[in-house]
Amino acid sequence: MAHVLIVGGGMSGLSLAWYLKQFQKGWDITIFEADERVGGKAWTEREDGFIMERGVNGVLDNKPSTLELAAALGVTPIRSNDASRIRFVVRNGRLVRLPDSPRAFFTSPVLSPWGKMRLMGEFFIPPGAEDKDESLAAFAIRRLGDEAYRYLIDPMASGIYAGNPERLSLKACFPRIHELETRYGSLIWAMISLQKEARKAKKTGPSAGPGGVLTSFTGGMEDLVDALRKALTEEIEVNATVEGVEFTDGNWQVQLADGRAFSGTHLVLSLPAFEAARVVSPFSSRLSFLFSKIEYPPIAVCALGIKREKMENPLNGFGFLCPFCESRKVLGGLWDSSVFEHRAPSGYHLVRCLIGGMRNRHILEKSDHEIAGLAISELKALTGLKGAPDLVRVFRWQRAIPQYHVGHLALVEEIGQGLRKFPNLFIRCNWIGGVSLNDCVLNSKILARKMAEGKDVSRF
Ligand SMILES: Cc1cc2nc3c(=O)[nH]c(=O)nc-3n(C[C@H](O)[C@H](O)[C@H](O)COP(=O)(O)OP(=O)(O)OC[C@H]3O[C@@H](n4cnc5c(N)ncnc54)[C@H](O)[C@@H]3O)c2cc1C
Repeated sequence: MAHVLIVGGGMSGLSLAWYLKQFQKGWDITIFEADERVGGKAWTEREDGFIMERGVNGVLDNKPSTLELAAALGVTPIRSNDASRIRFVVRNGRLVRLPDSPRAFFTSPVLSPWGKMRLMGEFFIPPGAEDKDESLAAFAIRRLGDEAYRYLIDPMASGIYAGNPERLSLKACFPRIHELETRYGSLIWAMISLQKEARKAKKTGPSAGPGGVLTSFTGGMEDLVDALRKALTEEIEVNATVEGVEFTDGNWQVQLADGRAFSGTHLVLSLPAFEAARVVSPFSSRLSFLFSKIEYPPIAVCALGIKREKMENPLNGFGFLCPFCESRKVLGGLWDSSVFEHRAPSGYHLVRCLIGGMRNRHILEKSDHEIAGLAISELKALTGLKGAPDLVRVFRWQRAIPQYHVGHLALVEEIGQGLRKFPNLFIRCNWIGGVSLNDCVLNSKILARKMAEGKDVSRF
């Protein structure tokens, strides 16, 4: 009988195991998780009435995979407040609201009149070469102009990847935008055409950018992790760091740090690329080399609980992002207590600042006190914080989010070829196929179905 060994108990590994159980009732499954808890980057801290996300903040409901999984597990989602549609970027040291309609765009100070004209000129820019793996920065400057790149696109890359847009691959990170340029020739023309098509089909209009409503759970993302943990009690091994894997006598062998060893018919690597590189080195130096090419920046998440009267700005919105050219000390700040109900006790705000990323790689050399000091000084300057916060927590991610750099898709292709040299060897983690939780859950579901049906077409 099949025995599937899943290395890594983050949301990818857990959802893969859950779907495998639905699609193949008879199979044995074991999930090895190095930590004492499962969930990986989905991890909620609850303290003194504050619900603080160390990592994943929520999912957009326009891609339904995570919410479908939640519904199947009986976990009820909560939608973000309407105010969270209001977003800000920093321009000339002040918060400027991002326009949410064409009319607001023309009156907004987010771009200068010249920057707006240049952006509108996008309509007349010919499409780039379809097969070119272009950086996000090169694409945005070519189509939208330098100013729109710096104030609209660069902060988006920080918000999702904590990345450097000069290195991120447009095709790998934002395939939909690449597809729209290829299909319609212009992003503005794509928006107009999609809205027309939606009106014809009597649907509300889709957009080229990330749409949907941000959604989470009453007790934070941990509610979903808890439900999966309970549903997979028999399959999960915690405090089980995998040191190495080997393929011998037609089976996969997993060696744990505590000396235990397990054997199985299928092996799924659901752990970060740098750890996958380490564990596969006993049987494939080639795969190990390929995995190690994927870079991860460090991120510090600083959660601040603040009495409302200490904050001048009412924090009516989702939060703010800092364009790199503004040289701020944080990537951005999320106004969590304005986004979701009950994230802070009555009379308090909960704000989380993200600091670090690909362009600030030494951030974790600082002490918690120094990191919190950076967040506090930015809130004083940008949102009028007066005095000290009432709760300060710093969460550290040494290697946070995998970067899909230019060349990523070619690398994934090579990895796929390398995997096919071994039977029943798979990868299912956020370094292939999309970094968002929605992508992870969807890809896990797809892979589970392929494995259950015995299809050997792809190893992701
Ligand atoms: C700060 C931050 C904020 C984010 N916010 C969002 C958000 O708001 N929305 C969103 O969609 N996505 C967000 N993400 C992305 C999110 O991380 C992923 O979508 C998803 O949680 C990744 O899950 P995963 O299982 O693929 O990887 P991981 O969560 O990294 O899980 C990998 C697991 O492998 C385990 N492991 C590692 N080495 C070993 C070993 N040797 N043996 C056994 N186990 C091992 C780890 O302990 C971990 O549990 C955020 C990420 C970060 C870092």
